[in-house]
Amino acid sequence: MKRLLAAVLLLSSAALAAPAKHITSPTEAFGFQPGTDRKLADWKELTAYFQKLGSESDRVRYEEVGKTTEGRPFITVTISSPETLAHLDHYKEIARKLADPRITSPDQAKQLVVDGKTVLVVTCNVHSTEIASSQSATEFAYQLATGDTPRIRAILQNVIIVLVPSLNPDGEQLVVDWYKKYLGTPYEGSNPVVLWHHYVGHDDNRDWSSFTQVETRLAVEKVINPWHPQILYDIHQMGANGPRIYLPPWVDPIDPNVDPILVEAMNALGVNTALEIGQTGKQGVLVHGVYDFWSPLRDYIALHNGLRVLTESASVNIASPIEIPFEKLDRGIGYDAKVSAWNFPDPWKGGAWRLHDIVDYQIDAFFSIANHAAVFRERYLNDYYKIGVRAVNRQEGPYAYVVPAEQTDSAAAARLVNILRIGAVDVDQATADFDAGGKHYSRGSYIVRLGQPFGSFAKTLLEIQQYPNIPEYPGGPLQRPYDVTAQTLPLLFGVTAVAVDEKFTATTSKVDVAKPAGGRFEKSANGFGYLIADRTNSSLYALFALLKDGVRAYRLTGAGTEPGTIYIPQQEGVEARLAAIADKFPVDIHAATAAPAGDALLVRLPRIALYQSWVPSMDEGWTRWIFDQNNIPYTRVVDADIRKGNLNEKFDVVLIPDNSARAITTGRGGPGEGAPAPAAATEKSGKSQSSAASENTRGPKQIPEYAGGLGEDGLTSLKAFTENGGTIITLNKASQVYTSESSEVSDALATVNRKEFFIPGSILEVSVDLTNPIAFGSTASVPIFYENGPTFKTHGGAQSIASFTTDKPLLSGWIQGGQFLKGTSVIAEEPVGKGHIILFGFRPQYRAQSEVTYKFLFNALLYSSSTTQLLAESR
Ligand SMILES: [Zn+2]
Repeated sequence: MKRLLAAVLLLSSAALAAPAKHITSPTEAFGFQPGTDRKLADWKELTAYFQKLGSESDRVRYEEVGKTTEGRPFITVTISSPETLAHLDHYKEIARKLADPRITSPDQAKQLVVDGKTVLVVTCNVHSTEIASSQSATEFAYQLATGDTPRIRAILQNVIIVLVPSLNPDGEQLVVDWYKKYLGTPYEGSNPVVLWHHYVGHDDNRDWSSFTQVETRLAVEKVINPWHPQILYDIHQMGANGPRIYLPPWVDPIDPNVDPILVEAMNALGVNTALEIGQTGKQGVLVHGVYDFWSPLRDYIALHNGLRVLTESASVNIASPIEIPFEKLDRGIGYDAKVSAWNFPDPWKGGAWRLHDIVDYQIDAFFSIANHAAVFRERYLNDYYKIGVRAVNRQEGPYAYVVPAEQTDSAAAARLVNILRIGAVDVDQATADFDAGGKHYSRGSYIVRLGQPFGSFAKTLLEIQQYPNIPEYPGGPLQRPYDVTAQTLPLLFGVTAVAVDEKFTATTSKVDVAKPAGGRFEKSANGFGYLIADRTNSSLYALFALLKDGVRAYRLTGAGTEPGTIYIPQQEGVEARLAAIADKFPVDIHAATAAPAGDALLVRLPRIALYQSWVPSMDEGWTRWIFDQNNIPYTRVVDADIRKGNLNEKFDVVLIPDNSARAITTGRGGPGEGAPAPAAATEKSGKSQSSAASENTRGPKQIPEYAGGLGEDGLTSLKAFTENGGTIITLNKASQVYTSESSEVSDALATVNRKEFFIPGSILEVSVDLTNPIAFGSTASVPIFYENGPTFKTHGGAQSIASFTTDKPLLSGWIQGGQFLKGTSVIAEEPVGKGHIILFGFRPQYRAQSEVTYKFLFNALLYSSSTTQLLAESR
């Protein structure tokens, strides 16, 4: 009887919790256990596995939420109790109501907290070489699908886990393919020589305030916005020689727009997870180091009332084990990996480090976080509602931002509003004129009121950043910002947005998607041709499109016209083409009242070579993205193409995106290049996509066919190209290929003590020479995004096109050593033979954000194929 009862009990508990049917383990599916040395499941295998798990387990739901840039499935795996999974829409609705106190009273919220579940979004593998988490994800899901421990039951009962096994599936596949290709060769474990996101490589986690990439849009619009997670766990890896794993608390400063409850909650969660990892006997766990909590570019969730907990694990060579002697362990912000400290109580002793170690630490971290989300379900939901209440009832100014209807670039203004809309910010549009803050605004102006659930996201994107000066110790040198310090979109976009402190009223309608003013085409009655004002990027996109279509076009430089004005003479079939252009672009094409006369540039479609280094440059990818978005034709060229010579036959211009001069000239395997990234912090904003393993590790050899950079032959070929009339454009650090004491453009900062000068990413003001064709369409002073780039002194025939005129050029962010910039140039042109070199000391197309300076790059490209002409007085 007793036995029977026991059997019945066993049976009923099995029926409740343990799955009746066989559930495939990752080991069965892949033929190896996730984390096995030198074994990786690729994206095809991972999606097939999660799909299978979804079909076998009633605790797991597989969903393809969209396609990646290269067309692969972008998936989520939702995990909870079967009862919860059966009512996901109900729980989404609870989350939506808790997020918005404008539709939910405190009493209603109380009941929603009782009924709701903590939502935990887990994002893996955003950085593709940080491969372990894509593998660990299968264990997270399998253990939750099959486990029957009290902890797993508590998690399933209280939490909805939305697992994103890779935020960049294209990169997961690319890295696994690359790894397998070189497995067993001297190059095993090396990093790919191309960006592992089609466009943006490692910058794919710097896109959370502009949403340019498909994957970011999917994560925001299909996962985070509809689910309103209270916690987002984002899994990374860092250098090999620091701590074994690192978690929050972060170091200062904190973005002032993040609610203090979130900071406290994140500190508590990070410290608790560190404790629970330490309790298993695992060593080398660090909290409170490495990163600050400033930039929304990589932290969307904290400005959407949830908290982001991140782990960084020490890397291996992709999936190949490494050996790290204790004495090679290094130091970084907040730690010395050899020394015990309050935030790092149990240093790791060195030795072998394998993929499996990373997976094990990640599994511990994941289950600790998921359990915390279960135990504190009520607290997380209460806090989530409370933070929303505080956001809606904010007292301090500004009350709102107004984006006036009258803008130089209506397309940029619309893009700005649409970024806010993607970020779940409510935006209104005035349906009648109104007054606010003592100013009059026209109908059509946009109003962004900050007293709304995600008002802090809007505020941080719209306001001027004041990154604080934090001394390392009282009276000591200033702590250096970890990442870029400014993201003020109105400055970067060249859009006017006015902060209004006092409350005001206006008649408005809700904006779903903002649309720029439509293009206009006015047919000429007199045959004098057509003019397009040149003030916006759209006018240049239109010009590229017309040139591609074979239309003859000029840019006027003579007296009586605004320099750069686009002139389309009367020609066969031009009306139909211009009408089509006005349909496509927000440009105003009007009939000339007389035939323009005087100086002009005849513009041809430039034949653009875009240089792609084998030390991958994110800037190259961003450039390519902007070209592709706007149908600007170009050809990718690699070292071998340039070394071959005869460039003038094929190209008018060679564009060399940001990369170190050494990477460009000596390439991978050159001194210090292609070598793995220093110490911790692969989240770091590097110029080239960095390797995860540290340089103290015996890294894999460089692959010969990708070694060497441009080399002597490449540089000679480029010299001949300019001598024969070609143009070279260099961006940011790439300009140092061409700055030297003996050339006409030298590096003005070459001898500056770098302890006194540091600007890791701020918006600065420069003055522009408007007569130069590179500056057509600009304003006399313009905000640039500047990141420690070279600035120039010009000599001889070289000219400066834009320069710093003050020692206080800071518009937003942080600056140290502004006095060294005063009087130096940031865009310089050096004539060489029949051609020239145009050097930028910054990235004019910075991360597809600095819309206001794109024109300098487009102008430089167009100028490469322009010829000076005198337009006759009469036709
Ligand atoms: Zn990372």
